Amino acid sequence: MPHHPEIPIGRFAPSPTGELHFGSLVAALASWLSVKHAGGRWLLRIEDIDPPRQVAGSATSILAALATHGFSADGAVLYQSQRGGAYAAALQRLRDEGHAFPCWCSRTDLEASGVLHRDGHCVSPAIAGREPAWRLHAPDLDIEFEDLLQGPQHQNVRTAVGDFVLRRADGLWNYQLACVVDDAFQGITEVVRGYDLMESTPRQILLQQLLDLSTPAYAHIPLAIDANGCKLSKSHAAPVLDMRSPLANLARALGFLGQPVPDAPTAAGMLRRAAGRFDPSPLRGIANSEPAAKPMPTDPASR
Ligand SMILES: [Zn+2]
Repeated sequence: MPHHPEIPIGRFAPSPTGELHFGSLVAALASWLSVKHAGGRWLLRIEDIDPPRQVAGSATSILAALATHGFSADGAVLYQSQRGGAYAAALQRLRDEGHAFPCWCSRTDLEASGVLHRDGHCVSPAIAGREPAWRLHAPDLDIEFEDLLQGPQHQNVRTAVGDFVLRRADGLWNYQLACVVDDAFQGITEVVRGYDLMESTPRQILLQQLLDLSTPAYAHIPLAIDANGCKLSKSHAAPVLDMRSPLANLARALGFLGQPVPDAPTAAGMLRRAAGRFDPSPLRGIANSEPAAKPMPTDPASR
């Protein structure tokens, strides 16, 4: 998808696993403010590649909730469930270039071995008639990047996560691969998202390098947490936003992001004014001291 290189393009990419909640409103808002402040475009992507975790109808209700809060995408919504061909092409390229290998290890195999799966050595031998998972050979290499809010980051993917899965044995695509392929396809130049995804970023940069894709700028924002210090996520049955009060919801989300709340008669008007005066400095470094700002647990069998 060609784009003018000087126009920043951001995105919000929810998984349809429930209703829009306060934490995801904050993430949508942060990505919007950042790119709109710079006069850029904002795109939407529904990350519906994990059917077992999805809730029927939630993609539609998330999109409706975003519209109620004044968000409008500058382009068609991209659905990852329609993108299998592009993910398959990326995997094929990684296979052709020797970066991916088939793996028949089960979770039990890996647990029994007492080590993470590493260096392209399967614990299990090939099993005739059974589809393998496909894994990336994780190179022994420090991936470094400068997070726009959290400063310099680095991770050795091999040490931290090992040879991670690209496509599961059951055919489901890995989040990292799908995200990288689609960020490139949508021409994304900046990724503003929750701190819980910081831990994924080095794997995504590694895949970008192996697939010759450009690396967007990254900014990871603090997570909205509840009174118990838990992340406000759909999986914890976070209270749904009251759709009758989008202005109040936006005001709360702006407050969470340390932004002033402009007077506006409509949600779209409030978004526009807030973008005009967006200042990211209250968000710098905050995630590092947040109690909930721990990376998501890495499951080598699924991620
Ligand atoms: Zn294996």
